[in-house]
Amino acid sequence: LAYSHNSSLCDPNDVFIAVKTTKKFHQSRLDLLLHTWISRNMQQTYIFTDGEDEELKKKVGNHAINTNCSAAHSRQALSCKMAVEYDKFIESGKKWFCHVDDDNYVNTRTIVKLLSHYTHTQDIYIGKPSLDRPIEATERLGDNKMRPVNFWFATGGAGFCLSRGLALKMSPWASGGHFMNTAEKIRLPDDCTIGYIIESVLGVSLIRSNLFHSHLENLQQVPKEELHKQVTLSYGMFENKRNIINIKGAFSNEEDPSRFKSVHCLLYPDTPWCPSQTTS
Ligand code: UDP
Ligand code: MN
Repeated sequence: LAYSHNSSLCDPNDVFIAVKTTKKFHQSRLDLLLHTWISRNMQQTYIFTDGEDEELKKKVGNHAINTNCSAAHSRQALSCKMAVEYDKFIESGKKWFCHVDDDNYVNTRTIVKLLSHYTHTQDIYIGKPSLDRPIEATERLGDNKMRPVNFWFATGGAGFCLSRGLALKMSPWASGGHFMNTAEKIRLPDDCTIGYIIESVLGVSLIRSNLFHSHLENLQQVPKEELHKQVTLSYGMFENKRNIINIKGAFSNEEDPSRFKSVHCLLYPDTPWCPSQTTS
């Protein structure tokens, strides 16, 4: 595969990739990511979880961050994790923040290429909207006053990226304990709260990209020939059916139900556990 590198503008080390997970998924989901894309991108990847795991620490050291947030799937617990992701990114000094879930495959070469079209000091929020219209929410203003707000947000399950310039402007609503308070104002999940701060509070618009994918879209529709161009992929359930990308690849669906091992061998064919390439 031939890649055109614009690496003068954005280096892989400029990107901070936050992976959200929870202790019960360390084996069933995270190990697959560590085995595939994270193994090639350890320096820029941080894993945000909710429990101590000595095995995980042995594998990634201080790149595993115990948020001490609750392990519940509640709005508060998920906002708590996003708040820690934000704070750690600010602390890191890196130029770009990208958030993904633990059922995402990340192609960091295409992330770098995508972000190279933008400047980290500009206000950049890029991802895939999960709805085909802005979400309608109610902002709680205090003294029991309410205000309807409409805004677009990038679905967290497909991954999204923010520039450092924009992230710094978000600080009064996102840093320290502020993110949790902001989330409570609109009572929506963490990814919606990010959209709310950026679009409704700061007046910056989401840049749509079709290169981010969650399992809430039909993943069979990602063209086989363009898998290597995507920024994120996913697997999971959609409309009560198993939802995976269409790739023939190195491994069968039984050996590789998520298809991530096959994708990884497509992108990094020199990986020792990938079948060796034949030249005929
Ligand atoms: N997650 C979490 N705590 C939980 C359940 C899920 O942090 O109690 C994380 C999970 O690891 C994943 C994301 O939240 O990164 C979304 O979870 P999942 O894929 O199970 O649900 P979805 O919203 O995609 O249906
Ligand atoms: Mn999911």
